[in-house]
Amino acid sequence: MKALSSMVIIIFFAIFATHCNAENIKKDKSVEEGSKMSFEIKKADDEWRKVLSPEEFHVLREKGTEKPHSGEYNLHFEDGVYSCKACGNILFDSDTKFESHCGWPSFSDIKDTSAIKLITDKSYGMVRTEVVCGKCGGHLGHVFDDGPNPTGLRYCINSVSIDFKSTNEDNDGKK
Ligand code: FE
Repeated sequence: MKALSSMVIIIFFAIFATHCNAENIKKDKSVEEGSKMSFEIKKADDEWRKVLSPEEFHVLREKGTEKPHSGEYNLHFEDGVYSCKACGNILFDSDTKFESHCGWPSFSDIKDTSAIKLITDKSYGMVRTEVVCGKCGGHLGHVFDDGPNPTGLRYCINSVSIDFKSTNEDNDGKK
């Protein structure tokens, strides 16, 4: 019974914390309802399946999540830029990447304001803020307000959803 009470308290605070998180982010960013959004790049699922692997399709188009600590870019700290795996839209600069120990690539800021769009996500009994590609609407991850200064934000992003281009590639054409 004591264990059950503890569990109820933990769940209550988890829901409370995620709700507060979403409310705080709303003060600074425009968070919209996903169903009302339109994107520059529109493709049918069949077309996306031709250019994405099954795992990429699941995360980017079905809002899946890769296993924590499993992604290619989780502990990747080279200099360069990260783009959308589906459409190539530039999303994040390596200057803003940091080790959050959460198991997914984490960034404190976006490359520019058009890089992403934010959507209210009420799945799994929580209120979170989903991050999608600003051009194609592909699911990237979620943003939380426990990141480092100066933004205080943590963009928690699936490695599967992004590509990386090293700064060195610009100079000599290879990594
Ligand atoms: Fe995209």
